[in-house]
Amino acid sequence: MSGNLIEVRGVSKSFGGVVANKGVSIDVAEGGITGLIGPNGSGKTTLFNSIVGYHPIDEGSIQFKGREISKLRVPEIARLGLLRTFQQTRIYSKMDCMKNMLISVSHRDEGLGTMFGSMRDRETEEFAEELLEFVGLYQKRFLIAGELSFGQQKLLEFAMALMNRPEVLLLDEPTAGINPTLINGLIDRLKRANEQFGITLFVIEHNMRVIMNLADRISCLAHGELLATGTPDEIQNDPRVVDAYLGA
Ligand code: ADP
Repeated sequence: MSGNLIEVRGVSKSFGGVVANKGVSIDVAEGGITGLIGPNGSGKTTLFNSIVGYHPIDEGSIQFKGREISKLRVPEIARLGLLRTFQQTRIYSKMDCMKNMLISVSHRDEGLGTMFGSMRDRETEEFAEELLEFVGLYQKRFLIAGELSFGQQKLLEFAMALMNRPEVLLLDEPTAGINPTLINGLIDRLKRANEQFGITLFVIEHNMRVIMNLADRISCLAHGELLATGTPDEIQNDPRVVDAYLGA
């Protein structure tokens, strides 16, 4: 047992002539918070898409708990407990928060497995309420989601992902567009989801202050290739990383 939930090895992915990832190898340690940084266009989202089965990779391997998943599709990978969120929120803006929470589970039942297939409706509702409480939206549970602030919508989306009890959650820029006060609340929730619920997190983040505070290991991509991996301290002081950002 390597202690890694995800092992990405030598992954390459091109779109036509554009090389988005080239020979990337990254570990996501079980129970940890791994950060993924890099300038715009360095291949971060492509790597996430490859891991969750959104598109096939050209080369390399991706293992989840020792099992090769690079040939599996999104629903099969989600069923194994590996979920992602998106840079743009994907909530149902005309429905209230509770409905959004409940729908995120029925979606899973339709296509994403049956881990909670036996859960009764009332239990599902109670779990949804607990999670809304956890993200600080319990009082707003009957409010139409489109009326929440952008930051609150992100918190709702995070709670919706937790409804599926993922083992690993891939978060694509969770703090993008959120005001500083809510950012601190979100960081706190992410840490608690990791510590209390034991969810392994793999996080793309542009905000350096956030990722340095949140992650225990960070990998940096540049031009589709892995530039460096290390602790937040090592990464912050790595001249190659500094150059990649200044040169971007
Ligand atoms: P990042 O997330 O680090 O900003 P991306 O993974 O989105 O980087 O993009 C890496 C490169 O791959 C970019 O040059 C981008 O234009 C290209 N790319 C990403 N997705 C596609 C796609 N579906 N079709 C064509 N090119 C793409």
